Amino acid sequence: MKYRYIFGPVPSRRLGLSLGIDIIPFKTCTLNCIYCECGRTTKLTLKRKEWLPTKQILKEIKSYLSKNPEIDFVTFSGSGEPTLHKDLGKMINFIKENFPNYKVAILTNGTLLYRKSVRASLLNADVVIPSLDAATEKAFKKINRPHKGLNLKRIIKGIADFKKEFRGRVFLEIFVIPGINTSPRQLNALKKEVTKINPDKIQLNTLVRPPAESWVKKATDEEIEKVRKFLKRAHPIPASSKKAKKKQKINVPHQIYSLVLRRPVTIKDIENAFHLSRRQTQKYIKLLLKENRIFKKGNFFKALPR
Ligand code: SF4
Repeated sequence: MKYRYIFGPVPSRRLGLSLGIDIIPFKTCTLNCIYCECGRTTKLTLKRKEWLPTKQILKEIKSYLSKNPEIDFVTFSGSGEPTLHKDLGKMINFIKENFPNYKVAILTNGTLLYRKSVRASLLNADVVIPSLDAATEKAFKKINRPHKGLNLKRIIKGIADFKKEFRGRVFLEIFVIPGINTSPRQLNALKKEVTKINPDKIQLNTLVRPPAESWVKKATDEEIEKVRKFLKRAHPIPASSKKAKKKQKINVPHQIYSLVLRRPVTIKDIENAFHLSRRQTQKYIKLLLKENRIFKKGNFFKALPR
């Protein structure tokens, strides 16, 4: 079967070897984050609907998981906000009913968790990773450029309510952007709200790929450390997952291509993601370039359409 909505499995920095499921058309989101590695949002919306065909997605999930792949997580993520799909809950339940050995993770910006129906749809997942980059309206608007129907207070309450209702684990992600959410005022406000949410983990992220807006700066190790100390329980997201390496079954060029299809990557990103030496990485890149599956722009490799 040719897969359109499933990608990977790819080694994930947080979830080991992860099979990705992309259920939203490219750049459809409730936010338009300045740091988004997929570029600017082209469809800014709060509308939940069947953005991509549920029947086909379930077919692909069934086909792939029936082969008993050795993976750590099935992850709903990709190039838009997955909770915008009205059947996300149905897809999670389908995996849990038919393939109960697999763990399910959702990467979400958390903006729709104020809706009871959205919270209910995620209850059977194992791990939910919402984001919260700012706790003041001004910084929220500057960083996340939300749909005008969103309200930060309501979003934070939604994430906190979800944490209380959910039996799985909630990892809260904070994207650290020097000069925007790193001042004492911003960090104090964030700390207050993070304490209310009480996530199982707080993960600090920063720029590793080209952002939607070129002026966004990567946080230095010192800046990340400052935020980590301030928030106390926070941890930087590791650069790569060693655990994933062990489980990784080899069709490396295909897996590299899957990664590049999702986002532009540097040679270093590929080395880290797949635990390859520079020589091995160059060998696979050469092959993908020769097959016209990827191309190079500056320091980044990008995919040519399938
Ligand atoms: S980073 Fe995530 S939440 Fe922000 S615009 Fe990109 S896809 Fe949407």
